[in-house]
Amino acid sequence: MDAGFLSSLGFGKAGAQRPVVRAVNGVSFKIARGEIMALVGESGCGKSTVAKTIARIYKPTAGEVRIDGEDVAGYGFADMLPVRAKMQMIFQDPYASLNPRQRVRDIVAEPLLEQTKTAEERKDVPARIAALLAKVGLNAEHAGRYPHQFSGGQRQRIGIARALSVTPGLIVADEPVSALDVSIQAQILNLMKDLRDEFGLAYLFISHDLSVVHHIADRVGVMYLGFMVENAPRDVLFAKPRHPYTRALLSAAPSIRPKRDVEEIVLSGEVPSALHLPSGCCFRTRCPFAWDRCASERPRLQDVGDGQTVACHLVDEPERDKA
Ligand code: SF4
Ligand code: MG
Repeated sequence: MDAGFLSSLGFGKAGAQRPVVRAVNGVSFKIARGEIMALVGESGCGKSTVAKTIARIYKPTAGEVRIDGEDVAGYGFADMLPVRAKMQMIFQDPYASLNPRQRVRDIVAEPLLEQTKTAEERKDVPARIAALLAKVGLNAEHAGRYPHQFSGGQRQRIGIARALSVTPGLIVADEPVSALDVSIQAQILNLMKDLRDEFGLAYLFISHDLSVVHHIADRVGVMYLGFMVENAPRDVLFAKPRHPYTRALLSAAPSIRPKRDVEEIVLSGEVPSALHLPSGCCFRTRCPFAWDRCASERPRLQDVGDGQTVACHLVDEPERDKA
């Protein structure tokens, strides 16, 4: 699975008087088969938009979404049907995403039935449902129950079983544990990791919680105001964050603070409105290092080695980093 992504999104009809907000700007990344890629950032940074665009719940206004090399960005509903067998989504609120009037067996079977048309193909579905429920730690007895009869963690297991039913290569997971008690979060994260190991699944994992990301991700992309400002293997990012915004996020997360060779940064100020993006660097209104170049020139993601890319002018002028 190779979900390269490059997109800028506009909301609001062309020609209408409403302002156009670009929710995501030139965000580009790849996810390898078996890889868990996390996107982090404060709410409103565009990470959910990226997730829903890759899952093609939203249609991008520009750019590409490549699944196994196939650009699905412009696909309509019918075109997406075969693609859904390769890519599924799980949601933050498992209760809202499960039809309360459907039994678990019908919920889990739904994506599968979309893909199987003949009675011959469908005769194995009940056995497959039972196997899927076992895979996610539920049992065959649960198949006849309704969503309200389960706890939050169990509901997320049902959502995962549904996503798995078509043996996808990629699962897009938008804050999948944020609505769960902390004690349950680790169980669901470990289940997701086990399923990755067993099936070679890739995940795009959206979270605002760095400790969750640290637990599950192989690679982390940091987003701010619709831009990706840093992208690195997890251990590289947590040990030597380069972007001032990443450094600020990690400074504010003391529980996952390995010894780092960079100074901490405490953020002040508010996230600017996406309607009035700062010129140059999107982070400059809150960055302690900003200088005139940051107002005039938008920094591009640059490769700094170790699989790490950073969008910050400090990469060219490191002597200005005196935090
Ligand atoms: Fe700060 Fe300038 Fe780097 Fe932006 S480009 S993060 S304003 S130093
Ligand atoms: Mg969100």
